[in-house]
Amino acid sequence: MFSNKDITQFAELETPFYYYDLALLQQTLESCAEAAKVHGFHVHYAMKANFNDTLLDSIKSTGFGADCVSGNEVKKAIERGFNRQQIVFAGVGKSDKEINEALDENIFCFNVESVQELEVINALAGKKNKVAKVAVRINPNVDAHTHHNITTGLDENKFGVNAWDLPACAEVLKKSPFLEFIGIHFHIGSQITNLEVYKNLCLRVNEFAAWFEDRGFIVRMLNVGGGLGIDYHNPEQQIPDFKAYFKIFGDFLEKRANQEVHFELGRALVGQCSSLISKVLYVKNGKKKNFIILDAGMTELMRPALYQAYHQIENISKQSSAATVKYDVVGPICESTDCFGKEVLLQESERGDLIAIRSTGAYGEVMSSHYNLRENVRVTFSK
Ligand SMILES: *Cc1c(COP(=O)(O)O)cnc(C)c1O
Repeated sequence: MFSNKDITQFAELETPFYYYDLALLQQTLESCAEAAKVHGFHVHYAMKANFNDTLLDSIKSTGFGADCVSGNEVKKAIERGFNRQQIVFAGVGKSDKEINEALDENIFCFNVESVQELEVINALAGKKNKVAKVAVRINPNVDAHTHHNITTGLDENKFGVNAWDLPACAEVLKKSPFLEFIGIHFHIGSQITNLEVYKNLCLRVNEFAAWFEDRGFIVRMLNVGGGLGIDYHNPEQQIPDFKAYFKIFGDFLEKRANQEVHFELGRALVGQCSSLISKVLYVKNGKKKNFIILDAGMTELMRPALYQAYHQIENISKQSSAATVKYDVVGPICESTDCFGKEVLLQESERGDLIAIRSTGAYGEVMSSHYNLRENVRVTFSK
């Protein structure tokens, strides 16, 4: 819900822009930190969800680490003051340059995604006479029951080491003097709303941890990744149920004494604290369909075009009691997939109305592009 004060603020600004509610972000972070603390769990923020400096500063101040998936994210995390010993680096395609830079920065851990990558990190660390701390990212073949484009933990996915490659992995680890094995890592997908999925993950984590222990490895760390979803259909449901989420891991992980449990949450922390605010440029009433054409498009928010993601759309210039019409809400970009929603029931709208596209804090601003030579996306914060 936007207050009249918010709407007055919006009316003075050039659209489109991302609006961030920093108070809500703060509440969400605190709720997560509190729930994690009960179990002694460690949280890293998955930077790829949103690397806006202002957000990163709040997240760092909460004491969270950073989960990075590129060399530039590692650099950015350090620049924004994240503790190097709380930075983890995942990704199936780390380049030599990225690995070298992360070695120079002495980050906490590489989450390694293939046997070959282990060999490469060992060689590169050897040249620097350093020992790289590594966790093996395992593909546990657990179905996340989410959109197939954001599933990452099935045998058919490119991420992580598959179970049948673990013997080769163990062999390389044993003969690599410049690698220090610290544990195992998982990340099975995003926007997971069925907590049962995490129970299944825990059971697999226990099996894999035992597999390594049986072969003489000490598993100091279990990193179970992120993926906790938010309620896109109900943006007023602002803070995810972190208590229930962490409790699953508390209940089902067979945690050893002194073993650390790490998480990498992205979307759940930042998803609800933002809306994309846009203006109606044109209303087109057709025979079969009515269109609202916005000044925001897939260049600002790509999720609907990329994976048919749902975002709630609201006309915030009209009273909620006004008569409604069904519209296809589209952007100005020359692509038919540049559509935020089909047959959306909205108050009868006109040129100049402000439209809020809700729950855009995660994978929104960071995926914006210059396609069609569009301008840099604008951003504003709650006052
Ligand atoms: C994207 C990603 C995450 C975060 O995913 P969310 O769904 O945003 O929580 C965590 N870990 C890794 C390795 C990732 O690639």
